[in-house]
Amino acid sequence: MPNVCGRRDIKFDTGPRDHQIPSAMVSLVVALIPCLSDNYCVLLHHPESGQTAAIDAPDAEAIKAALAERGWRLTHIFVTHHHNDHTGGIKALKAFFGASVIGPAAEEGRIPELAVPVSPASKLTFAGQPVEVIETPGHTIGHVTYYLPESGMAFTGDTLFSLGCGRIFEGDAKSMWQSLSRIAALPDDTAIYCGHEYTLSNGRFALQVEPENEALKARMKEVESLRAAGRSTLPTLLGKEKATNPFLRPQSRAIRARLGLEGAEDWQVFGRLRELKNKA
Ligand code: ZN
Ligand code: FE
Repeated sequence: MPNVCGRRDIKFDTGPRDHQIPSAMVSLVVALIPCLSDNYCVLLHHPESGQTAAIDAPDAEAIKAALAERGWRLTHIFVTHHHNDHTGGIKALKAFFGASVIGPAAEEGRIPELAVPVSPASKLTFAGQPVEVIETPGHTIGHVTYYLPESGMAFTGDTLFSLGCGRIFEGDAKSMWQSLSRIAALPDDTAIYCGHEYTLSNGRFALQVEPENEALKARMKEVESLRAAGRSTLPTLLGKEKATNPFLRPQSRAIRARLGLEGAEDWQVFGRLRELKNKA
């Protein structure tokens, strides 16, 4: 399996889909669980305490099976936003494990069983390490990204995808661009886990708007071979996304020239890219 070169040298050593994140304080095991047609749930497990978190809960049965296979008991569910393909499994998981459900305060009432409503001011921890809440509205109005600085991981839900970004359903181009900019300000070696396996189709669009980008061409080769082998394209690294993802590159001269937006603001270039992608 590939070493994805995270800040703390992310390794695969507990099975084909799980990787170990050693940090100064705690060591977490990460498992990426495919759910529904193209969603992911990420499981984080802390062997010392037994604490186990799910980031989003698309499908209770798939998540229960993944936990049982590993002998883990779910203690926390971190929810990025209220859409059903991220929350549909919460009720059954809560009933089975009694896990604590954490999610954006701004979407209270739209997320089942929400017990810990959070905002950027919240002091959250998981397995002894801080979990920062970053407001990333645009896809939905309360969407949040969870960032674990000690492990160098961010869970971006449907805001930042590999080679793409989420559709703007409840916000506007300016707020979505600000959200992506907040994620882009994290360290380049942050491992990015997002809510969907959309990388291949995102990459086809990216190549249309920036065909001269060598890093993008190389990433697409990698993505094509991973998908052909039935493997995930995640996690990706933030630095790699900044070099390849057109939605993080509105400053690119080539993209601006192609769109005829040389003098526009970054958010306007971003907004035009998002409109074009909606029609692609
Ligand atoms: Zn969504
Ligand atoms: Fe989604």
